[in-house]
Amino acid sequence: MDQIVIKGLEIFANHGVFKEEQEKGQNFIVNATLYFDTAKAGRTDELSDSVDYGKVCELIKDFMTQYRMNLLETIANRLARKILMAYPEIEAVTLEIEKPQAPIPMKFENVSVKIHRSWHTAFIAFGSNMGDRLSYINDAIANLKADMRCEVKKVSKFVESKPYGGVEQENFYNGVLELRTLLEPKELLEFLQAEERHAGRVRKEHWGPRTLDLDILYFDDMVIENDDLTIPHVDMQHRDFVLVPLSEIAPYKRHPLIGLTSKEMLKRLKDSYVTRK
Ligand code: AMP
Repeated sequence: MDQIVIKGLEIFANHGVFKEEQEKGQNFIVNATLYFDTAKAGRTDELSDSVDYGKVCELIKDFMTQYRMNLLETIANRLARKILMAYPEIEAVTLEIEKPQAPIPMKFENVSVKIHRSWHTAFIAFGSNMGDRLSYINDAIANLKADMRCEVKKVSKFVESKPYGGVEQENFYNGVLELRTLLEPKELLEFLQAEERHAGRVRKEHWGPRTLDLDILYFDDMVIENDDLTIPHVDMQHRDFVLVPLSEIAPYKRHPLIGLTSKEMLKRLKDSYVTRK
C-alpha cells in the first residue's frame, strides 16, 4: 500500500520512568509511516483527498506534549490509535519513538520502540432469544457504532431461527455484522462480553436461552486457538443461522482454514441435510 513517511520529527516532551525525566524533559524523535491509498489525490491534485502530513505532525506534537507517560510503549500505542481514529482513511501506521538521551549510563547511539497498528475487519454473529430480543441486538449494534474504535460497515437482515442444541426455549433472532475496528482480538472479545453482561446475560446452561450472544466469526484472516478464543469460530460452518446472514453480507469471503466461501459453506450444509434425509 502507498505510504506517507514522516522521518525525524523532533519533539521536546516530559516522558520517562524517572521523576527527573518528567520534570526536566528531553528530546524525542518520532518516525511515522502512514499507509493509505493515494490514488484519488494523485488524480485530483487536491489536498482534501489526501492526508495532510503537516496536520498529522501537529497532532503528534500536541499528543506528545499534552501528556506525561512513563513508557515509550504507552506513547506509541496510544498515539498510533489516535492517528488512526483521527484519519480513518489511513489503514495502518508504523510508529517509532526514539529517545536518544535516555538515562542509560553507557555510550549508546539511540533507543526506540517501534510498532505497527492497523484497522481490522471482523465479522460478528449476534443472537437473542429472551425478553425484548430486537432491543438487545439493536442496543449492542448502537454501542458498537458509538465507539470511536469501531465502524459498523454492514448489518445483515435478522433471521428468526429455532434454537440449537436441544434445550426447550423461545426462537432466536440471529444475524451477522461486519466491523472495521482498531481493537485487537482479545479486546474485541472483552468488549462483546461486556455488551452481553450489559444485556443482563447470565451464563447458565451451555445451549440455554440468552438475552444476547455475540461471537467473533472472523478477525481478518487470523487463526487463533487459545483457551478463551477460537477464530475462525469453531462451529460456524455447521450453523445455517450464521451462514445465511453471512452469505448475505459477505458471500465471497473465504474461510481461512476450510477454504470455502460463505456461499459454498452454506450450500455444503444444505446438501448435507438432503443427504441425511
Ligand atoms: P457462548 O456461551 O457460546 O457465548 O461461549 C462463550 C465462550 O466462548 C466465552 O468464554 C469465550 O471466551 C469463548 N469463545 C471462544 N471463541 C470465541 C469466539 N470466536 N467468539 C466469542 N466467544 C468465543
